[in-house]
Amino acid sequence: CGIVGILGKTAVASQVVDALKRLEYRGYDSAGVATLECGRLERRRAEGKLRNLEEKLSRAPLSGAIGIGHTRWATHGRPNETNAHPHATDHLAVVHNGIIENFRDLKEGLEAEGVRFDTETDTEVVAQLVTREMRAGKAPEEAVAAVLPRLKGAFALGFLFDGRDDLLIGARHGAPLAIGYGDGEMFLGSDALALAPFTDEVTYLEDGDWVVLSRGGATIYDVGNAPVSRARQKIQPGA
Ligand code: GLU
Repeated sequence: CGIVGILGKTAVASQVVDALKRLEYRGYDSAGVATLECGRLERRRAEGKLRNLEEKLSRAPLSGAIGIGHTRWATHGRPNETNAHPHATDHLAVVHNGIIENFRDLKEGLEAEGVRFDTETDTEVVAQLVTREMRAGKAPEEAVAAVLPRLKGAFALGFLFDGRDDLLIGARHGAPLAIGYGDGEMFLGSDALALAPFTDEVTYLEDGDWVVLSRGGATIYDVGNAPVSRARQKIQPGA
């Protein structure tokens, strides 16, 4: 039940896991992380405690300097490794908190077009819908903007894209999401507590906002896709 994203300078997987530990209080049944390894998406996921994910990472390390992570509290689909986030296609990986209420309708539509699903989750429809837009030629930002209005429910999302070493996209709709500012680094997290080891300056997204992050900063859009500015707040470093 937590989301983390890091655009860093060196390998970020262990930082992602540390931030996820700070979200453990929300409860979870499985966890996962995705990074870009030489530009290509790679994932490690595990049922149960973060310790299990850490063991996987120590056996098969990830070295990417950009990554997303998730602790899952299953709502749709058993709490196993297959259903653990991040969910991925050849274009992107996504982490999601909350529920996509209309996922059955969306899934049926995609299946009718021949899309095959790997998991039982509501989240995978988001991965497949954005991928479909990208296959039709849209850039990641345009693809996410096209899909968000189709999603019903309360959710927060974080996206990482294959081959895009300087891009994360986040979205909030009825579930909290904050961004954190570093020095040539940027962060995404379910709350400021998760980001406190890395930054003392955060912005809480407002409902309906979505954000495009690069190491140089953040561009925030409101629900109507108009660029907006949101206040930055100081938090206690290391809190
Ligand atoms: N509904 C999603 C799932 O069951 C996300 C649950 C969560 O918030 O962790 O996979």
